Amino acid sequence: MIGADGIRSSVRSELFGHINPIYRGYTVWRGVAGYEGSALFESANSETWGAGKRFGILNVGPQRFVWYAAVSVPCDHVVGPDGRKRDLLETFKGWHEPIIDLIAATPDNEIMKHGAYDLVPLRRWGHGRVMLLGDAAHPCTPNLGQGGGMALEDAAVLAKCIAQNTDLEAALRQYENQRRHRTKHIQRRSRLMGEIAQWESRTIVTGRRMVTRLLPARLFERNLRRVYSYRI
Ligand SMILES: Cc1cc2nc3c(=O)[nH]c(=O)nc-3n(C[C@H](O)[C@H](O)[C@H](O)COP(=O)(O)OP(=O)(O)OC[C@H]3O[C@@H](n4cnc5c(N)ncnc54)[C@H](O)[C@@H]3O)c2cc1C
Repeated sequence: MIGADGIRSSVRSELFGHINPIYRGYTVWRGVAGYEGSALFESANSETWGAGKRFGILNVGPQRFVWYAAVSVPCDHVVGPDGRKRDLLETFKGWHEPIIDLIAATPDNEIMKHGAYDLVPLRRWGHGRVMLLGDAAHPCTPNLGQGGGMALEDAAVLAKCIAQNTDLEAALRQYENQRRHRTKHIQRRSRLMGEIAQWESRTIVTGRRMVTRLLPARLFERNLRRVYSYRI
């Protein structure tokens, strides 16, 4: 049995007892918008960091952009009476172009809102012939955009392990051993990145800006390569 039932997995609870996902202090709003202005060029991807908030833009088609906004708020944050869009327009007032345009071009009822949750890496993902996969095994904050990707990698590795082993339990153990290191690394790295990106103190944020400017681009590239170039 493969428990691929997400961050609040019932299969995980059956195996290891109930564990509440941990809220990491910020919530993410997302949308897709058309934009024809001159502030963005094709294939423009960016993330702008402020104090306790950031805004990301990804080009997903001709003059179409996915955007996301991460804001430090309590887990029980309630949307204002005028809706998500109005809240965001207020939160990002004065930010650079075309942040306000992208929010304004997204219908309020199409703006998604999800808290950033994860778990500390589990020691085991399964028992006997029961095994976890995806967010059920290794839920991750969304800072590296890897949660869905890792679930797909799990599935590919699991299929390979089953094809290589006549003993099913051995195949499941092999899958777990092969996947735990990478997923643990991404869970931790993503969490750390979220913590740094959501710093709220203006003094610390100024220090962050100065330090990141001094760091060589190849350091970021090397780190990103490790995250994004995984071979099963
Ligand atoms: C704000 C945000 C941004 C993200 N951005 C990215 C990104 O850019 N790239 C990326 O790769 N990932 C991203 N992710 C993470 C990604 O969404 C998840 O990691 C991914 O959906 C996990 O897939 P999964 O199949 O393991 O779990 P899920 O997608 O949660 O699927 C679990 C399924 O199991 C079903 N289920 C649950 N309980 C039961 C039950 N008892 N019986 C039957 N069915 C059940 C659920 O209905 C659901 O359909 C983001 C997440 C968030 C919150």
